[in-house]
Amino acid sequence: MKAVANKLPLDIETIRLDFPILKRKVNGYPLVYLDNAATSQTPQQVIDVIVDYYSNYNANIHRGVHSLSQEATDKYESARKKIQQHFNVANSHEIIFTSGTTHSINLVANGFAQELEKGDEVIVSALEHHSNIVPWQMLCEKTGAILKVIPMTQEGELDMEAFHKLLSAKTKMVFVNHVSNALGTVNPIEEIIEATHKVGAAILVDGAQAAPHIKADLQALDVDFYVVSAHKICGPTGVGMLYGKEKWLNKLPPYQGGGEMIATVSFEKTTYAELPHKFEAGTPNICGGIAFGAAIDYMNAIGFKNIAAYEHQLLEYATKELLEIEGVKIYGTSKEKTAVISFNIEGLHPYDIGTIVDKLGIALRTGHHCAQPIMDFYKIPGTVRASFSFYNTFEEVDLFIGAIKKAKMMLQ
Ligand SMILES: *Cc1c(COP(=O)(O)O)cnc(C)c1O
Repeated sequence: MKAVANKLPLDIETIRLDFPILKRKVNGYPLVYLDNAATSQTPQQVIDVIVDYYSNYNANIHRGVHSLSQEATDKYESARKKIQQHFNVANSHEIIFTSGTTHSINLVANGFAQELEKGDEVIVSALEHHSNIVPWQMLCEKTGAILKVIPMTQEGELDMEAFHKLLSAKTKMVFVNHVSNALGTVNPIEEIIEATHKVGAAILVDGAQAAPHIKADLQALDVDFYVVSAHKICGPTGVGMLYGKEKWLNKLPPYQGGGEMIATVSFEKTTYAELPHKFEAGTPNICGGIAFGAAIDYMNAIGFKNIAAYEHQLLEYATKELLEIEGVKIYGTSKEKTAVISFNIEGLHPYDIGTIVDKLGIALRTGHHCAQPIMDFYKIPGTVRASFSFYNTFEEVDLFIGAIKKAKMMLQ
């Protein structure tokens, strides 16, 4: 293990000092946080921004002439610009602040009702999070469109041959995640986007699980919609983004009505505000938006190339150590994957393993990971999932492996 330690791409010990929560104990043991695919931890730099907002310039935005309101508006809009730059988006008004990935997807699904007719087809993948399945099912029920599914393989990859066969002139939209939260598979979205556009359909990519590991260039990808939650990239919960191409955002109807999203209101007729405000009804999560920008700054200061390289080392080491335990089966063995390991131990229930290792301070996820169709595919009730971040260490991998061995001994 120590062989790699002297050529790490990141100074982990210094980085860890940024995260106050990593100093705490859980059940008498130092916290080993390996549930990063569910939510990431928050560095002091982001916490400071949140405290600063409520301590010094808490005010409603976009409508006040007073100084505090101006200050809050400037910071909020500059966060939007940071997000725009990070994802290499052409216009800042193509970035819509939402409450997160789920909200972003529902906004698009709701708007797409007007684009679909009975018999049209929409395509989803077998690897999706429930939040990228259910809104489209609801849309199909409303419109009479038909939901088609890209099947997956034993390795946890999309069956691309089958995908190309599903595409036709009837296809109106494709939804696929960039990275699977349950298995860590990185999907070939470049190929998927290109093929989707060839048949004249639109495509939404769920980037929630990719954003912590991959800096996506949305203009190069030429994707129609891309959605992200701030809380998976060191930001707060309750805020996220919807990127949409200008032509789509102009075409789709508003999702919610209210303040902020109007130009003029009378009882005869209301006209809508320009982008991005058309989709931002009501007082937004102002502090959250600003902290989202700070989180992006924090991650970029560390550098996504360094993050990906280091997490890959953690993944390889943890995978190798885990496979030495008898009876371990890993689900999702795609060549391209982020640092997520979904696994089971023969004869043991994932929940029991999760409960025992929690007693030893190890935070893992057990269950279906909001992706029941994947569990059905493997004919299992769920898995144990360890998901790593750049602030995890090789020592923590050892503690995790030790705890799994202990749990196995106790349960068998
Ligand atoms: C976390 C996650 C979501 C849901 O994000 P919310 O923040 O709960 O809205 C959707 N898709 C993927 C791939 C995720 O990892």
